[in-house]
Amino acid sequence: MASAQPAVISIAQTGRTITVPTGLFINNAFVPSVDSTAVIDCLNPATEEKICSVVAGSAADIDRAVAAARAAFRTTWGKNVTGFERARLLNRLADLVERDAQALGELEALNNGKPVRVARDFDIGDSVACLRYYAGWADKIIGQSLEVDNKTKVAFTRHDPIGVCGQIIPWNYPINMWSWKVAPALACGCTIVMKPSEITPLTALKLSELIVEAGFPPGVVNTVPSLGAVGGAALALHADVDKVAFTGSTVTGRKVMEAAAKSNLKKVSLELGGKSPHIIFESADLEQAANWAALGILYNTGQDCTAGSRLFVQESIYDRFMAILVSKAKELVIGDGFDEKTSGGPVVSKMQYDKIFRYIGYGKEQGAKCILGGEKRPGKGYFVEPTIFTEVTRDMKIFQDEIFGPVLAVTKFKTEEEAVRLANDTTYGLGAGLHSNDASQCMRVAGELEAGTVWINQYNLLTNNVPFGGKKQSGIGRELGSYALEEYTSVKAVHWNFGEKLDWPL
Ligand code: NAD
Repeated sequence: MASAQPAVISIAQTGRTITVPTGLFINNAFVPSVDSTAVIDCLNPATEEKICSVVAGSAADIDRAVAAARAAFRTTWGKNVTGFERARLLNRLADLVERDAQALGELEALNNGKPVRVARDFDIGDSVACLRYYAGWADKIIGQSLEVDNKTKVAFTRHDPIGVCGQIIPWNYPINMWSWKVAPALACGCTIVMKPSEITPLTALKLSELIVEAGFPPGVVNTVPSLGAVGGAALALHADVDKVAFTGSTVTGRKVMEAAAKSNLKKVSLELGGKSPHIIFESADLEQAANWAALGILYNTGQDCTAGSRLFVQESIYDRFMAILVSKAKELVIGDGFDEKTSGGPVVSKMQYDKIFRYIGYGKEQGAKCILGGEKRPGKGYFVEPTIFTEVTRDMKIFQDEIFGPVLAVTKFKTEEEAVRLANDTTYGLGAGLHSNDASQCMRVAGELEAGTVWINQYNLLTNNVPFGGKKQSGIGRELGSYALEEYTSVKAVHWNFGEKLDWPL
């Protein structure tokens, strides 16, 4: 069996030593696999060196974690814990994550590549806020009282915790995606089997230590690092899992839904990919619009499900706007994530790096004009410079496919109607942005864009109280806000007769 001994990681840049659990986290303990010696090697994308290995969970380990989650749901959690207590524990967890923000940020930077500053101030800052936001909901999960016949009968609804939840998350925001999933599920009284991405499992394991320290009973949160096709598939197919919440690619989301349908028809929520349009109209504040457009494609080095990867610029301002945008993109500092001045690190893996350059190749072959970047940089690490293609047409792969890198596809348009048509010309529907100083145009276009989120005169900003999710092939269900509570509760209608006598036969 693979060892479950913690790894001791020394970070040269900060002098910090972090001890990271490497076992499967089940029933509040880190344990080896029951039947496998497989491990997952975790790599540092900035250096291409191995950080450590963690135990790779098997299907039998998923069974064990689900059994632990079921037992906790029946005994210490679920209907056995008050909303006040769930709120207290979530707030305590938030305090611990906040306390450890710097160390967690460093670990995230090491395994994912994103700058420590970005991980700490944005991903972790937002995660702490997310935990607190749902702590606030924990004692406010309420049903409705419904009128039937007030003299003899009443009906009401209970919003019961749905049960054991399988949660499968990607590598682009490991801590953020963890908190978006864990916080509402715990607030509603569910128990969890979390399957982090095999590329970035380290912070989910470190956060599992905080689950114990915060005082959650054993089995409430379980974490099983595993390959997607092994642990992820087993979780989606498991007959004793009541709900699966998945964030990742559309291809995998389809498999998760199929597995749920084949097994027990468990409830499914899917947060999938995107190819989001970002429209710059001629009345926009061009300096500001360029800042948001740069953020839209370059934040997290474009490894963002809502990346504004298709930019549409109105013909009359095209040259002026593009000159500003290119100069903004050149200002981005890509490099060592441990330097506080760095805004973008490497992309997460060799696979992702190769995919991005494959698409840059397609862009060049299919006749788009590469006006910035597009070349490999010498040396170690999966660094990709901001890359901008212009003269992009709808038949090109860089227009249609999610690249998940800092590669922008720019298309010129003449009229509002043309911009909307181009923007909606995709199978995805996650995010969309528009910049305009014409209020009527903002309202009109926001209404026409086929997306779960529309940003006006900004881009990519999310807050915990506003729902997030996709339409078309970008997903099913909503995370964040009060909407996420619906994903983790099951509505039970109770009809109560306190007076009517039934005459029989009818
Ligand atoms: P991915 O689909 O390859 O993997 C996501 C997760 O699914 C991982 O944990 C993986 O191990 C697991 N998995 C893989 N095969 C599985 C299977 N057969 N059954 C069950 N689980 C399986 O995605 P990724 O490469 O990790 O992440 C990038 C993708 O995630 C992009 O498409 C991006 O747009 C999407 N994403 C979406 C959102 C959103 O909120 N809509 C947020 C972040 C990322």
